[in-house]
Amino acid sequence: MKSVNRRDFMKITGSTLIGLTLGGVALRAQAQEQLSADDATAKALNYTPASTVDGAKCSNCMYVQGADGEPHRPCNIFPGKLVNANGWCSAWVKKPG
Ligand code: SF4
Repeated sequence: MKSVNRRDFMKITGSTLIGLTLGGVALRAQAQEQLSADDATAKALNYTPASTVDGAKCSNCMYVQGADGEPHRPCNIFPGKLVNANGWCSAWVKKPG
């Protein structure tokens, strides 16, 4: 087994840190902004990040995207934004199934 001397170790660590940092920047650039209740379309559709409608919330709406369990998810009605999984708006339609 090849031993890793201190200088090699520092090189590896440095490259890894740079890789992780660039990866983090790329991920942040892709991250979408959370939908604000003050957004004009959100207001028009009475969006709220905390549903008060029994049994209806973004996570069980047919327009929500992304994976179950994520706290903020994309929605087809609000392109480029993330809605709260516990939110609601007047476009809500029960997800089939
Ligand atoms: S359409 Fe409305 S209720 Fe359905 S996921 Fe989007 S914001 Fe939530």
